[in-house]
Amino acid sequence: MFNLILFGPPGSGKGTQSEKIIAKYNLLHLSTGDLLRAQISAGTPLGLEAKSIMEKGQLVPDNVVIGMINDVMAYNKDAQGFLFDGFPRTVAQAEALDQLLKENGEKVNLMISLKVDEEELVKRLLNRGLTSGRPDDRNEEVVRYRIKEYNNKTTAVADYYKQFGKVDEIVGIGSIEEIFDNIGKSIESHQ
Ligand code: ADP
Repeated sequence: MFNLILFGPPGSGKGTQSEKIIAKYNLLHLSTGDLLRAQISAGTPLGLEAKSIMEKGQLVPDNVVIGMINDVMAYNKDAQGFLFDGFPRTVAQAEALDQLLKENGEKVNLMISLKVDEEELVKRLLNRGLTSGRPDDRNEEVVRYRIKEYNNKTTAVADYYKQFGKVDEIVGIGSIEEIFDNIGKSIESHQ
């Protein structure tokens, strides 16, 4: 298996690059944001719990997202590898992920961290809000709160994987193809 974490702040291009990565490298895309939005659309109790939290730009509780990831991984044991997008977002989530993989004799092979500065992120997210239909992309205060959550709780996840030498940083500004080329080089040098 090849297990990749695509890491970076909201608006850094994880969703866009994920689509290209899964197509080329045959990985199963696991986006906790997409999974949560699917629960909201389906009107499940989990979705109801997550909705108001997400609309404020806060993080959903660790046990909720870890449970979702556990379920999808258990259903897809024959996957060639997973692409984790938007997960793990806290050190507790990272530890839980390592444990889940370890139970199956697997590990995180690589974290690719996309670097984009804050003003560019805010610009991209508000721009996406014009068409995405995502309530959390429409309000500048919520957008900035999400970036604050990232700085306060999520950047530590990169430090966590850095201690194992698993992090590759890639500039997330430039053309989609240019960034994807650099991601591809990183993946291929770790396969
Ligand atoms: P973005 O990276 O643009 O913020 P996502 O779709 O990854 O978009 O996440 C949207 C929201 O979903 C987050 O602001 C958060 O409320 C929730 N969420 C997604 N993934 C996680 C996670 N791993 N842990 C906690 N909350 C999450």
